[in-house]
Amino acid sequence: MINKLLIANRGEIACRIIKSCRELGIGSVAVYSDADADARHVAMADEAVRLGPAPVSESYLRTDAILDAAKLTGADAVHPGYGFLSENPEFVEAVEAAGLIFVGPSASAIRAMGLKDQAKTLMEEAGVPVVPGYHGAEQDPEFLAQKAAEIGYPVLIKARAGGGGKGMRLVEAPGDFADALVSAAREGKASFGDPHCLIEKYIQSPRHIEVQVFGDAHGNVVHLFERDCSLQRRHQKVIEEAPAPGMTDELRAAMGAAAVAAAKAVDYASAGTVEFIVDGAAFPDPKAFWFMEMNTRLQVEHPVTEAVTGLDLVALQLSVAGGEPLPFTQDEVTVRGHAFEARLYAEDPANAFLPATGQLNRLWFGADARIDTGVGEGDVITQHYDPMIAKVITHGEDRATALRLLARALEDTKVAGVQTNRDFLIRLARDEDFQAGDVDTGLIARKGAELVADLPATTLDWAAAALCVLRVPAGLGLVGLANFRHFGAARQIVRFEEAQVTVETLGGQVRLETPDGELNVSAVDWVGDALSFIVDDRRVRFHVLADEQSVSVERQGSTRGFALLQSGSNADAGSGDVVLAPLTGRVVSVMAKAGDVVAKGDALLVLEAMKMEHRLVAPRDGTIAEVNTGEGEQVDQGAALVKLAEVEP
Ligand code: ADP
Ligand code: ADP
Ligand code: MG
Repeated sequence: MINKLLIANRGEIACRIIKSCRELGIGSVAVYSDADADARHVAMADEAVRLGPAPVSESYLRTDAILDAAKLTGADAVHPGYGFLSENPEFVEAVEAAGLIFVGPSASAIRAMGLKDQAKTLMEEAGVPVVPGYHGAEQDPEFLAQKAAEIGYPVLIKARAGGGGKGMRLVEAPGDFADALVSAAREGKASFGDPHCLIEKYIQSPRHIEVQVFGDAHGNVVHLFERDCSLQRRHQKVIEEAPAPGMTDELRAAMGAAAVAAAKAVDYASAGTVEFIVDGAAFPDPKAFWFMEMNTRLQVEHPVTEAVTGLDLVALQLSVAGGEPLPFTQDEVTVRGHAFEARLYAEDPANAFLPATGQLNRLWFGADARIDTGVGEGDVITQHYDPMIAKVITHGEDRATALRLLARALEDTKVAGVQTNRDFLIRLARDEDFQAGDVDTGLIARKGAELVADLPATTLDWAAAALCVLRVPAGLGLVGLANFRHFGAARQIVRFEEAQVTVETLGGQVRLETPDGELNVSAVDWVGDALSFIVDDRRVRFHVLADEQSVSVERQGSTRGFALLQSGSNADAGSGDVVLAPLTGRVVSVMAKAGDVVAKGDALLVLEAMKMEHRLVAPRDGTIAEVNTGEGEQVDQGAALVKLAEVEP
């Protein structure tokens, strides 16, 4: 029986585990690094203990500090989550030596599956089909090259200690083998402290299909069906689903039986995943699947299994770790409907998917999906940890419904302040081949640019961006401008780095000249960050966000960013009758007064904003009608500071 659980992890998985603790009435203890002192998992847990500075080697990987925290709080069990110490047998032994329950498999099961070569040997003995290849001890490069030739190209070199897609090299031709081996071994050594490699036949048009298994301390092992994780980028999962598209009863039974045999071979007790590679060309041939590795922990994508089985895998882990037998038999679990999970990352798809960092100025999710996240609005994505922002999980009666729901849930997801892969995920969710269930691990690479290329901004995008810039927090904005009708049509120019947009308002009509053409809109309306207007009797909606440097406009799942021309250039943007404050700031000097005759370009006043002085100039020749501000005054962005007298037609 577990009364109080320490969660030796952070982020979404720590929050996910704490949630189950709450539902079970089990106490929760969070641990944190200095970078996470205000993190969501710390706030969610009943208690929290500091481990040390931000680097993982000084915090989340410190067995001693974690055990001290357990002792300090009287926790009786430790859940490792995934990553970090979750597959470290020495950690399991240290936890158990301290008299605590480790929520996961035994140290020996982890050890047996820890190195891919040993695991494959063990699986062969257990009668589980393994990927053809060489996984012996000999590491001589010439010997391995010889083995590769026997296996037949293309081959995959894998660092036996590798994980998360690291330490793998695809080799297409014998001439490339030697270099690839050196670099795989180097990466294995650098990332996992082990240069030892194995060689595998590279399966063509492969599908990654894995089976969730569950064992208890009484020798029962069941499988909880499969997940298809074929949508990968550089061997890392992007979107996962359950069940696998096109799965047959026959193949499922064969894979399920192999997975259970794999787990039984190591007396597995807890949640685990047996990963198979499936020959896409032969699918669903019940013989065309081979064991790749077993992940001896809760998997990132476990929620899709939860969605289709209705089970809480963390609750089940806790119950099994407490010594309870599995509460059901194989025949009693069924699959209902279909589920997807997409991993929302702070990264820049247009820039080789480089991890992104920054503050989440906006973070908002729709109401119709399961969202597993460890961050909230205002939190910072740092370079210290995995840049995953959230997992978006949907469940529907059938695959098409669940996938539509996924695209919709991603559209409903609003993030600002940090680059994300959201739009990439949406394009993927709408991809025809993916929708048809025609998946293999090469799909993303094949589509390449199609999924990441910036689409050109449309007239509507330009219009929305300009209207967003002209929006005034104080409630003036276009509506306000329209009230200045007695001055004639207000004409303003919004200058972006790429091009400018001219905005003319007359009554309720707005005429925009964009680089992409002209547009007439009416009935501009704002609700929070939502902007809508009518074009040709159709109301179009955008979600827009602006800061001092840029505007981002988003519609139907596509986001476009526009950089504002800097250094006060928008300050002299008005070419109409009103000079607006381009930014919120302080008026430092006023040169203009009512009645002055000015020429276009004459300085009217100086505004200090964003630590810079912005000179506001006359938009045209004319006479000053009103000056609505004075030196030292604070003004809001968009405030009408100076008005020119109307020019008689
Ligand atoms: P999955 O995504 O299927 O759960 P991965 O192999 O991608 O499995 O790993 C999940 C998490 O564990 C990721 O955060 C990854 O970075 C981390 N991880 C996997 N293997 C290792 C390892 N050997 N050392 C450190 N972290 C790892
Ligand atoms: P990791 O520990 O990094 O997760 P895996 O052995 O699970 O390493 O492989 C990761 C991914 O690489 C798989 O999901 C699959 O896409 C691809 N892969 C692995 N082995 C093969 C193979 N023999 N043929 C084709 N693709 C493979
Ligand atoms: Mg794997």
